[in-house]
Amino acid sequence: MPASSEEPDLGNHDLTVVGGGAAGLWAALCAAEEGGSVCLVSRKPLAESASFHAQGGLAASLDPADSPDQHFEDTVNAGRNLCRTSAVRVLVDEAPAIVDDLVRRGMNFDRHGDGPLSLALEGGHSHRRIIHSGGSQTGREITSALAHLVAGNESITVLEETSAVALASDGNRCHGVFTDRGRITSAATLMASGGAAALWRRTSNPWGAIGAGPVLASAAGAELADLEFCQFHPTCLSAPGTAFDGALITEAIRGEGAILVDLDGNRFTDELAPRDDVTAAILVQIEKQDGREVRLDLTSIDPGRFPSAFELLERAGFDPVREPVPISPGAHYMMGGISVDLDGRTSLPGLYAAGECACTGLHGANRLASNSLTECFVFGRRAALTSLGEEPAGPASTSGWRFDPPQPPTREAVWKYAGPLRDAEGLSHLADDPFPLARAIGGTALAREESRGGHRRTDFRDTDPALDFTHLIYRPDGSIEPRRWD
Ligand SMILES: Cc1cc2nc3c(=O)[nH]c(=O)nc-3n(C[C@H](O)[C@H](O)[C@H](O)COP(=O)(O)OP(=O)(O)OC[C@H]3O[C@@H](n4cnc5c(N)ncnc54)[C@H](O)[C@@H]3O)c2cc1C
Repeated sequence: MPASSEEPDLGNHDLTVVGGGAAGLWAALCAAEEGGSVCLVSRKPLAESASFHAQGGLAASLDPADSPDQHFEDTVNAGRNLCRTSAVRVLVDEAPAIVDDLVRRGMNFDRHGDGPLSLALEGGHSHRRIIHSGGSQTGREITSALAHLVAGNESITVLEETSAVALASDGNRCHGVFTDRGRITSAATLMASGGAAALWRRTSNPWGAIGAGPVLASAAGAELADLEFCQFHPTCLSAPGTAFDGALITEAIRGEGAILVDLDGNRFTDELAPRDDVTAAILVQIEKQDGREVRLDLTSIDPGRFPSAFELLERAGFDPVREPVPISPGAHYMMGGISVDLDGRTSLPGLYAAGECACTGLHGANRLASNSLTECFVFGRRAALTSLGEEPAGPASTSGWRFDPPQPPTREAVWKYAGPLRDAEGLSHLADDPFPLARAIGGTALAREESRGGHRRTDFRDTDPALDFTHLIYRPDGSIEPRRWD
């Protein structure tokens, strides 16, 4: 690849944001409103992101009977003694004000008539605290409203259908981004490129969620963390060989009374336990049924409450009003990512990260449902504002390295060897995978010799208390260092 100076110059900004999901749109808006000049780069049109597909909603303690302390406790319990408690504290304390801010900006969340916001219940939450829109169309409402605000802000230059292919880094500092259309120089760069759950063949995520952010950041010299922790959502539709296989059936439906049943129609677990427990119970039941899927019984649910979920199931050929539908776990959310502090700083000066591509340690080993959209807003804002303190960048330089997307055999291998159940023998197959993030996931999952949250080793079935609050840091040279975060 030619040297940077031969690539078209796409401008110089205070901040470049990579990604047009909830975290990127919000961060761009926050930085612009503080006076920064921002360039937002998005591989897809702004409406096509995981954020757009978010169904359940955003968690915040809003009910007078609820409190940030109880939200804190639920998050930490779900995270299985691995949450970075300082990050959890920030999230639960700042979440209610974020909701006020979104409402003030005109976002339409569901209400009880003209009264207070309607609050839903999801697994692992001890209170109703999930705000939502159009039943299960929360992501659509949020991203559409944010995209509109970003498009109307003159301090933000939006480059849609533009991919970041490398960071401009001399190994000591990030100076901007190389895209497939040219280079952007900036004092600060903020990765908000989303998760990596589509690296697993069976996934609830859009295909683009392949972990480009962590791969670019690592190649530029930044540390990654918690890569062994992917959340496998318990209730993904099982429709093998069709485009509907892996489609998410929102947890909020279980919050309203849908139950999990075996082949004989008998209930076999607590549907509202944290996700890792529900997933584990389903895997055990599937094994008892010789590999056949379990079923989600929605026959007691009013389809008018979750119109898009019922429509999707009908389009997939099921009759959810009359019959339970087949489900099994699929890769859904990446707890790990680019290692950041509570203000979104990575280990590479000038580079920031927020949203699902970042790892504050907030989610520990198992994300509490609906904490991720809240995370995009709380930490997206903190990262954006902190990044405006960076000194102007020098000219962008690069090693010539460019991102190469993963091929189907990588996705098959990651599902097969680093799926909901793993062991050393299988994980060792990922050591030679051509995609760097697959190697990093395999390496860290191999190094964590215990089971905890989303990481279930069949050869180390117990949780090792000595590893409580210990995160595995993946360094740019491929070495792994255990680090304790409080
Ligand atoms: C079906 C589904 C339902 C969900 N429901 C909920 C829910 O109810 N509540 C909740 O809290 N969470 C939910 N989640 C998780 C949540 O939606 C995500 O964690 C969150 O939206 C991530 O937002 P983000 O901004 O970090 O990334 P995304 O929304 O994934 O956005 C990433 C953006 O980066 C762009 N991008 C990626 N790579 C590049 C590149 N190289 N160059 C340029 N641009 C790039 C993408 O095109 C996209 O615009 C759900 C996820 C899914 C898939």
